[in-house]
Amino acid sequence: MKAWVCTSPGQDLVEETRPRPTANGTDVLIRVEACGVCRTDLHVRDGELPDVPYPIVPGHQVVGKVVSAGADSPIPVGERVGVAWLGWTCGECTYCANDQENLCDAARFHGYHIDGGYAEYMRADARYCFVLDERLPAATTAPLLCAGLIGFRSLRLAGDARRIGLYGFGSAAHIVTQVALHAGQEVYAFTSPGDDQAQRFARELGATWAGGSDEPAPGELDAALIFAPVGSLVPKALKDVRKGGSIVCGGIHMSDIPSFPYADLWGERVIRSVANLTRQDGHDFMALAAEGFLAPQITTYPLGDANRALHDLQDGNVTGSAVLVVD
Ligand SMILES: [Zn+2]
Ligand SMILES: [Zn+2]
Repeated sequence: MKAWVCTSPGQDLVEETRPRPTANGTDVLIRVEACGVCRTDLHVRDGELPDVPYPIVPGHQVVGKVVSAGADSPIPVGERVGVAWLGWTCGECTYCANDQENLCDAARFHGYHIDGGYAEYMRADARYCFVLDERLPAATTAPLLCAGLIGFRSLRLAGDARRIGLYGFGSAAHIVTQVALHAGQEVYAFTSPGDDQAQRFARELGATWAGGSDEPAPGELDAALIFAPVGSLVPKALKDVRKGGSIVCGGIHMSDIPSFPYADLWGERVIRSVANLTRQDGHDFMALAAEGFLAPQITTYPLGDANRALHDLQDGNVTGSAVLVVD
């Protein structure tokens, strides 16, 4: 099978021909149909996450078909599945025992510790896969498995908020916009200053307001979700959010947060991060996706163009979500 591999930090991916993995125990072997391209894949490629075990195949937003299954797999051959970021947890620690498996210290992640979906086939532990409705198209479903899921978890952690600011309007934000509007919430989109195209995109999707992150919010927000990896957005968002409101940072990596006056945090404002996902998040969100109202905007690339897709994402040249499609 063909696989695109990160071989050392900061280098483009390399195409390799490898034997197909074997599915043992609770594993399944998945024939990949589509794999979303995530900003985290750039962090893996560039060694910005700790202890990347090179060589590694990135990709953690995978839709495919189970073509073989280990004897103990809860998912049989023939099922359509989705694979997200969480690949394995210990099941025994305090976090795992308290519905916080996303925080398990021993957790392993697809496309980071476990070879991911930038390949024709991928092995995954079926206990961490999500069975998908046959009718969901592969390419538009793939971005739901990270961008959508992290956005969904971020939105949940924002609590009971009606006016929601989204900072950084890429893959996650454009899906979260659809989820929020469906729930009757209002969306305020903050993009890089002068990014008219992203602002237009946000308005087309139904955002109440869209502008640059250098502009103040047009009124007090109840919550802010930050998806851009830019630490200076945190004190900015604090100024936009009302007393008691939350700032939720959805990225796995962010530049340092500049200092700010305590008065800006005062009034029971909350700053928190979102780390990974639980399997319950995945089941809940994919059930929502099965209702069929989510329509991620995608740019597709053949698997062979994995490096071009990563460069386009890095350069800000992707509207919505980039997705690799396997023939
Ligand atoms: Zn654990
Ligand atoms: Zn991701």
